[in-house]
Amino acid sequence: MQCVEKEGKQRVFASRIRITRPPSMAAPLSFFIIPIALLLDLHTYASSAGLVGLDTVLNFSYSGNTGPGRWGSLSPVYAPCAYGKWQSPIDIETDKVVVNKTLKPLKRHYYPSNTTLIDHGYNVGMQFENGGEFIVDGKKYTLLQMHWHVPSEHKIDGVLFASELHLVHKASDGSYTVIAVLYKIGDADPTVAKIQRKLGYLAKEVSARHEVVAQVDLGTFHIEKMRRKTHKYYKYGGSLTTPPCSENVIWHIFTKVRSMSKEQVEALRAPLQSTCKSNHRPVQPMHGRHVQLFI
Ligand SMILES: [Zn+2]
Repeated sequence: MQCVEKEGKQRVFASRIRITRPPSMAAPLSFFIIPIALLLDLHTYASSAGLVGLDTVLNFSYSGNTGPGRWGSLSPVYAPCAYGKWQSPIDIETDKVVVNKTLKPLKRHYYPSNTTLIDHGYNVGMQFENGGEFIVDGKKYTLLQMHWHVPSEHKIDGVLFASELHLVHKASDGSYTVIAVLYKIGDADPTVAKIQRKLGYLAKEVSARHEVVAQVDLGTFHIEKMRRKTHKYYKYGGSLTTPPCSENVIWHIFTKVRSMSKEQVEALRAPLQSTCKSNHRPVQPMHGRHVQLFI
């Protein structure tokens, strides 16, 4: 099954099917499988939550006729994917980055939040009810969700990494700022370790039931615990890396590459649909943009 879904405007408000697990599988408190017929309901729900790339009905993938090279022609609102001049991801050429001494350490205040792990078919992510906030240049952005790409989307000096995490924050004016973390293969990542078993559930459920989207409650999750002390970062202006590729995103990419195990990369890939197993968009032209560096 592809991650491509049928276009349509109808909104369906039927309740989702709830599947009760036996006590032996008690880890997920509840497990929802969302039939394709109810996907539009999810879009409405996801859109109201401001998920990246879910502002319109999905019809894209990462390979074949609906792959990244065709995104711009799939819908009029996807035009920036083809014609935008501030597109993401990019290849960060370190000999061209500009050290900006006026940049500040990132000011983030994350809270324990009710969290849901969602397999969208084109990525796996965690959605926060009240994740906290991030202040950039005096403007407040709210943490909505984080999700992974395998392999990475951004490159550094032409090098692609095993995975990339995006923490997505949105301001009241609809603009975004994303914090990206790159991962190479190595020691296990403690955050992915916490959800690894549930990723296995999602992979099995979507495969066994031929579903595209599934989600599982994670209970309270505190993202604060995944923060480390010092963070040098690259900063540039770009876009969402999924349709509609809107060019209203400030990117912050940590210079420190972290690690996750090979098994964890595979666990993040397993729940994805067949045309989305490599869910990374190719790097985009700079069109005169510069990357700044905070050290
Ligand atoms: Zn992303």
